[in-house]
Amino acid sequence: MEIVKHPRFPNPKPGEEETIKGDPSQQNATDAVYAYFDSYTDILLTCKKCGRKFYFFAKEQKYWYEELGFWCDARCTHCVECRAKTHKVKKLQKDYERLQKIDNPSPEEVRRFRIVAKTLIKIGCMKDRSKVDKLG
Ligand SMILES: [Zn+2]
Repeated sequence: MEIVKHPRFPNPKPGEEETIKGDPSQQNATDAVYAYFDSYTDILLTCKKCGRKFYFFAKEQKYWYEELGFWCDARCTHCVECRAKTHKVKKLQKDYERLQKIDNPSPEEVRRFRIVAKTLIKIGCMKDRSKVDKLG
C-alpha cells in the first residue's frame, strides 16, 4: 500500500507514530461542541481526492490548530500532494484573472497569460477555450 510522501516529514513506521503535546489555550473551539486537543498523534488518513493513504502529522495538526487558527472540528481530507495541487490551481486562476484585466499587456504578460490559460485547460480547470484560442 502506497503512502503519500510528505516533503518535510518522513512517514513513521507502524507503532512509531509521533505524539506531541497540544496547547488548548492556542486552539479555537466551542467547549460545548468541539473538543480541544491535549495532544496530537500522527494519523493515517485516506485522501478524498486521490484515494491514497497519507499521514496527517502531529506537527502539522499543531500548526493547523494552534498557528493557523483552524477550528478544532476542521479535518484534513486531502493528502499533501492534492493540497499542493489545489494551491497551485488557485494561484493559476488568480494569475489568469489578473492578467485578463490588463488593457495593454506587454509581450511578457501575453506570454504569461497564454501559459496560464493553457495550463488551466490542460489540467481541466478551464472549460471556455474561446478566449484563449484567440491568442493563438
Ligand atoms: Zn491526494
